[in-house]
Amino acid sequence: MPSWTYPFLLRTIPPRYAVKYPSTLLLFLGIFIGISSCQKPQLELDFLIQGARVFNGENQDALLLDVGILGERLVLVGNASDYSIKAARTIDATGLYLSPGFIDPHTHLDRDLSSPDSSKRANLSALRQGVTTVISGNDGGSPLPVGRKLEEWERMGVGTNVGLFVGHGSVRRLVLGLEATQPSDHQLKEMEAIVAKSMEEGAFGLSTGLFYAPASFAKEEEVVALAKVVGAYGGIYDTHIRDESSYSIGLLASIEEVLSIGRKANLPVHISHIKALGTDVWGKSREVVALVEAALAEGLTVSANQYPYLASKTSLRATVIPRWAEAGGAEAMLSRFRTSENRDRLEREITENIRKRGGGESLVFSETANPAYEGMSLKEFSEKRLLSEAASVLAILEEEPGLGVISYNMVEEDVRHFMQQPWVVTGSDASSGHPRKFGSFVRKITEYGMRSNWIALPFAIHQSSGNTARLLGIVDRGFVKEGFFADLCLFNPLDLKERATFDSPYEEAEGMVYVFVNGQLVIELGNYTGVLAGKSLRHQPSL
Ligand SMILES: [Zn+2]
Repeated sequence: MPSWTYPFLLRTIPPRYAVKYPSTLLLFLGIFIGISSCQKPQLELDFLIQGARVFNGENQDALLLDVGILGERLVLVGNASDYSIKAARTIDATGLYLSPGFIDPHTHLDRDLSSPDSSKRANLSALRQGVTTVISGNDGGSPLPVGRKLEEWERMGVGTNVGLFVGHGSVRRLVLGLEATQPSDHQLKEMEAIVAKSMEEGAFGLSTGLFYAPASFAKEEEVVALAKVVGAYGGIYDTHIRDESSYSIGLLASIEEVLSIGRKANLPVHISHIKALGTDVWGKSREVVALVEAALAEGLTVSANQYPYLASKTSLRATVIPRWAEAGGAEAMLSRFRTSENRDRLEREITENIRKRGGGESLVFSETANPAYEGMSLKEFSEKRLLSEAASVLAILEEEPGLGVISYNMVEEDVRHFMQQPWVVTGSDASSGHPRKFGSFVRKITEYGMRSNWIALPFAIHQSSGNTARLLGIVDRGFVKEGFFADLCLFNPLDLKERATFDSPYEEAEGMVYVFVNGQLVIELGNYTGVLAGKSLRHQPSL
């Protein structure tokens, strides 16, 4: 037999032994196999996931890789055959994509996560979308003290990881109350101290909601002073801008204000739920993008998040009541409704605000105390009551000052244009009564990634995981990399389905086959396992 037909192994054995002493050949082989398996590093795993196409969290195509988990961490992302593996459990994920668990930088889920009901704390609205980390305390409203809330969640157990911003509105309310007032030097120092303490306790940055009273009374200097404190800790400035429409200073001036705060306070800025809200600013996404691109070119760190819907959700009060009428809180507002000179001015300004929102038919009541109003538009209400739309607002707020409203105020062109920007990540703005809480991450993949082909799948994944981790300063999540926490989701994009709608906003999304949080299986074959595996995340101050 010519020697080239031998495998390399056999050619190293003198042919005479091979021929004359077959048992010696077997002995040689046995030793070789023993040695070669000894040379392979041993790897003990809790889970070995094989057969999945893996998105690593960068904006890159998926690769066929094996993924191994031990304890809370990923210990293998590569080729299992390079190791001698002992796995407690092997998952055949053939036909599925594996992605880093998604990270949601803007939610109001601190309420669900604080519930005495563990099924609420499981955070299934997020987990069912593959979201394994949520940030809360946005729009200027956060629990205080931040550290105590993070410890409470650790004690009670929560379904996803959770981090917090410290809310400017909450701090302002604590120091200044609800009035349209400016802080004294002493009061500003007091606010700075609360922000500094919150950063020490692990806040990821400062959130503001400059659109909302009483935060709307704050001048830029006040925000800059607090943002400087956050910047010194390596945190970011996250904002619901002063005006997403044409209410006060306008959309473009509000973006300029964010950029100016970033420059003066020297920290990264993040625009929450970026949008062009209302008829007066439709189509302005191009100008907003141009402003941000110029700031990026100048060296500023700017990013944004977005939920992929054409309607927003907030309170009717925030939507159409002018801020001067809100000073002092709900009682003060209602007493202003009752004086005739205020009433004329109010009705005039409310009429104009309804126009900006696209008319009474585009404002639909949601989360109402009176079920008869649920799903009713302002236009329908006013026709029933035989009142003008402005007078209807005053009448219904007398009954229910905190009434929620779904506001159809965006156009597809702007939503798509923002979504395509590399600095715009996914964020749900999760709050009750809007399908975005249950569907944002899945909708971005299915509706904008696959159906309309507006963005590519690797981009949608990157903007929902790795990019978000980077901008928040989360150093060990958001990517499928060895050493990182094992937060993962596995799915077939063709089976993903957002089920929540504006008529039925509480339907959980479908299609996540497996979801891991900190190495624990929380969704298995589409079913919740009952495990509360989330951790409180603390930003590491970079002082
Ligand atoms: Zn907001």
